[in-house]
Amino acid sequence: MEAETDAEIRQILQNSDQSLAAAQINEVLERQNNVPLNIAVTGETGAGKSTFINAFRDLNDEDEGAALTGCKETTKEVTAYPHPNYPNVTFWDLPGIGTTNFPAKKYKKKVGLEKFDFFIIISAHRFTENDVKLAKEIKKMKKTFYFVRSKIDSDLDNEKRSRKSNFNKEKTLTDIKEDCIKGLQDAGFESPQVFLVSSFELHEYDFSLLQETLERELPEHKRDALLMTTPITSLEIIAKKKKAFKSKIKYWAAASAAGAAVPVPGLSIAVDVSILIAAITQYVHGFGLDIPTMKRVAARTGVSYDDLLAVIVSPLAAAEVTPTLLLRVMASLAGTAALMAAEEGSRFIPILGIPIAMGLSYVTTSRVLSHILNILTEDSERVFRKAFGSK
Ligand code: GDP
Repeated sequence: MEAETDAEIRQILQNSDQSLAAAQINEVLERQNNVPLNIAVTGETGAGKSTFINAFRDLNDEDEGAALTGCKETTKEVTAYPHPNYPNVTFWDLPGIGTTNFPAKKYKKKVGLEKFDFFIIISAHRFTENDVKLAKEIKKMKKTFYFVRSKIDSDLDNEKRSRKSNFNKEKTLTDIKEDCIKGLQDAGFESPQVFLVSSFELHEYDFSLLQETLERELPEHKRDALLMTTPITSLEIIAKKKKAFKSKIKYWAAASAAGAAVPVPGLSIAVDVSILIAAITQYVHGFGLDIPTMKRVAARTGVSYDDLLAVIVSPLAAAEVTPTLLLRVMASLAGTAALMAAEEGSRFIPILGIPIAMGLSYVTTSRVLSHILNILTEDSERVFRKAFGSK
């Protein structure tokens, strides 16, 4: 995937009219960010589908765009829930087979199972006959499904209350998992995998394992879409996102270099700024450092928004990334101002000036992005530790 993108960008830089190259490189980057991912979440009414869909999208139940939770009404319709920051990623609330008023046979046709990349079958207890029926239909289509046993927090609470001093968390978790696996084996699945999840505490139990499994089993070109959408639930997720962002810096830098080749005074810096803003906005969203996400994390964890803000170092986090703000941050980076000045000056040197300006623009953009990516990664780690560390 990376090799293909490298080749595509090299070709744009070599072949096309230089004044179009920046826009064409941007198109390649846009296309990568718009890879569609459709995740179906299914199970009985009350199993926790809506709550899981909200948690995966980093939304609290009362937020705008959140799926309605706790309603006794049976969901009869397939409902789409796009991710607020990544509209290419959609979660679908699918009614369980047994909860529709159309028979199991018609279900597949009516719901249109083909369009989903994978299925999450959720249950708050052992999986039912209908869950199994659906899993078998999905298997027939050669698509993947994952069994998620929900509400683990409440199982642990109940067990703790009833066992008192005999309570053993690990044993309780193992027992629940084994019981679900046994039920699925009895229903004809040889070696089913079951993930224990609490939608109120995604950073606990098997959510990280589920995420890793989904990512590993997805086709390569869809992996980034899943990774970017995954909420910050562990330091490993932050590290993975950083790696993905880092591998793309060269493309942003190439787009900025292509922009610099247009010999119009002042344009190069304008192109740089818009490219930088696009990249940094992706970092801020991916790391959950935008204001709405941080407020939601505060509401969910009980750690105040101000306390989360207090651990942030970069002025670009928890702020609207505007050209003025970005230029102020860049001016404070040692050496960057000098590089920018040289670039503006060099474009007036005919012939030689253009390649020099391109090189400088590439260097400036990659230096600035690497630096900002490092700071935002650290901010994200600090916010994660502050929000979840004490638990
Ligand atoms: P749906 O009908 O499958 O969409 O189920 P909902 O998401 O509406 O959840 C049904 C009820 O279970 C709601 O009261 C939720 O708050 C609760 N619930 C869902 N997930 C969890 C969880 O992980 N832990 C706990 N304790 N309760 C949950």
